[in-house]
Amino acid sequence: MDKQTEFVLRTIEERDVRFVRLWFTDVLGFLKSVAIAPAELEGAFSEGIGFDGSAIEGFARIQESDMVAHPDPSTFQLLPWRDQVQGTGRMFCDIRLPDGSPSYADPRFVLKRALDKAADQGFTFYTHPEVEFFLFEDGPLAPGQPPVPIDSSGYFDHTPHGASSDFRRRAITMLEQMGISVEFSHHEHAPGQQEIDLRYADALTMADNIMTFRVVIKEVAMSEGMRASFMPKPFSGQAGSGMHTHVSLFEGDANAFYDASDEYHLSATARQFIAGVLHHGAEISAVTNQWVNSYKRLAGGGEAPSYVCWGRNNRSALVRVPMYKPSKSSSARVEIRSIDSAANPYLAYAVVLSAGLDGIAKGMELPEESADDVWSLTERERRALGIAPLPRNLDEAVRVMEGSELVAETLGEHVFDYFLRNKRAEFDSYRAQVTPWELSTMLPVM
Ligand code: GLU
Ligand code: MG
Ligand code: MG
Repeated sequence: MDKQTEFVLRTIEERDVRFVRLWFTDVLGFLKSVAIAPAELEGAFSEGIGFDGSAIEGFARIQESDMVAHPDPSTFQLLPWRDQVQGTGRMFCDIRLPDGSPSYADPRFVLKRALDKAADQGFTFYTHPEVEFFLFEDGPLAPGQPPVPIDSSGYFDHTPHGASSDFRRRAITMLEQMGISVEFSHHEHAPGQQEIDLRYADALTMADNIMTFRVVIKEVAMSEGMRASFMPKPFSGQAGSGMHTHVSLFEGDANAFYDASDEYHLSATARQFIAGVLHHGAEISAVTNQWVNSYKRLAGGGEAPSYVCWGRNNRSALVRVPMYKPSKSSSARVEIRSIDSAANPYLAYAVVLSAGLDGIAKGMELPEESADDVWSLTERERRALGIAPLPRNLDEAVRVMEGSELVAETLGEHVFDYFLRNKRAEFDSYRAQVTPWELSTMLPVM
């Protein structure tokens, strides 16, 4: 038995833990959980816990449905919102097939495989997300009725006794109790909209942290009589919720994105990485922005990207190189601005990394920086500058993804096929809907 496993078993005994939840994530990014009694834990560590994979979104075909969850002891934490005496612990799991091989459907495995590929080239992938979300008043809503934000504050607003600053304080305290460090937090632009930025970590730890983050935010909101939502664009007239992610590659202790002699302090590796992300930007959209609603956020404005370009201090760009020159080489990084708060973080980080690594492998050249606000240019000016649009809806995104070798290889055949099938069905269902917009614009004139 390794040290970490021993530590978990000892903690459970010493703290008199009553339940242990085993967590994993389905292909669309929803958290799954099974609680086991502490007495079952030794068995869970040695043999795993079997479950019916065919009942999990995207996991298995019906004829090969047996899957086994193997808890990862390094992720053990107590849940701070449960009783502190006879409490509840949780661990993330790796999913395997009955023969012990990793499950082709497990998003955590998809990311691990991409990280291994980076490791073969000597790189560790670090990420640091800025997660945006809304806080709404709780209570039942009729279908189609807009939710009510808990306040009418805006960017960086501070209101004494503000419900949202109290909320952030509680949420951050809880995150830190679970070993997740928070760097910044503030009110975002839209009414009720919040942002919490997590301190950078390797991408696997971060994807786990994001899953935990979503649970913590929902738990705290519920305990305060509010409802939290990570929906990318709840209101047509307000900014949506992005999950901008700052990324960097390290070689050992050295930040491979940093070059002191460069004008932007960006190394050749960083430039090629950005070039790869831009080159594959449209292909990976269906993964970084996986819902019909995601494309409402990308429709223009609200500081979300609509075009494939990069810039410094340019908040309309897909990739931004932060202007504040890194004082330490370790903080040199680039910001991917497309990913939204309802993405599956494992899959999103896997495709961004693969796109960047492809840029490095092929020595791709970084196109010229877009200094302008790309939304304010005309279609013609954008074309002249070689700035292509991101897919305008999920249908377009799925069609570009279908032809992508990079995404097929990164997700693996099973996840790739399932994902495309599921997303085509989502778009088809949406396409058949008559929306309030149509009724309000057509009925009066037709
Ligand atoms: N909410 C914006 C988005 O959807 C981002 C605002 C910001 O720059 O933080 O991407
Ligand atoms: Mg923000
Ligand atoms: Mg940002």
